[in-house]
Amino acid sequence: MNQIAQNINELRLHIPSHVKIIAVSKTKTVPKIREAMNAGQLFFGESKVQELLEKNEQIPDAQWHLIGHLQTNKVKYIAPFVQMIQSVDSLRVLKEIDRQAVRCNRIINCLLQIHIAREEAKFGFSEREIIDILESDVLSISKNVRICGLMGIATFTDDMEAVRREFRGLASFFQRIRNEYFRNDPSFCELSMGMSDDYRIAIEEGATMVRIGSLIFGERYLLTIKN
Ligand SMILES: *Cc1c(COP(=O)(O)O)cnc(C)c1O
Repeated sequence: MNQIAQNINELRLHIPSHVKIIAVSKTKTVPKIREAMNAGQLFFGESKVQELLEKNEQIPDAQWHLIGHLQTNKVKYIAPFVQMIQSVDSLRVLKEIDRQAVRCNRIINCLLQIHIAREEAKFGFSEREIIDILESDVLSISKNVRICGLMGIATFTDDMEAVRREFRGLASFFQRIRNEYFRNDPSFCELSMGMSDDYRIAIEEGATMVRIGSLIFGERYLLTIKN
């Protein structure tokens, strides 16, 4: 068995079956992604639109999740095929996703990205901004986006207790808005948090999706490690 298949099988032993594994394939080649697919991996995460487009051309049978910041003017390129946009971080981009989804006659699955890290540089809504959107009529107007849940990226740190606190806070916010705003909407069920270094903590705190790159495909070069 090849290394990638071995890594995936090993991961599956540690991850409960209700948690979806998103294999983060950014910077990784098409043959490596194929190896993962041959091992039964379904979902793949990319953070850059250009790279996602090139890979989708060659591997249209993968289910692609966008996990990196999306500029409004690029939504149109991925709208025809993307399985889920996990990184919705502004009202503007949400409305554009709806507009492009209408044009493609599709429903596009989205997660709202929440800013949970201490680092300023990371993208995402505040809890207040999410509540404001939910209190407005934006979602009832945006018929072609399906809000499936929340996504968050923890602070890049060795302090695992701090990471746990961030995940716990996100999970409790997720439960709260699910109860208050999505009671009758079973599609709102996904909490995407946890990467190679912290996925176990994320699952303990309630993640339903983990985004795993290096544990499956090996380390990326240092320069790109935070992409
Ligand atoms: C790169 C990336 C990951 C995967 O990181 P690993 O540490 O390699 O598992 C997960 N989520 C996002 C948003 C990323 O950009």
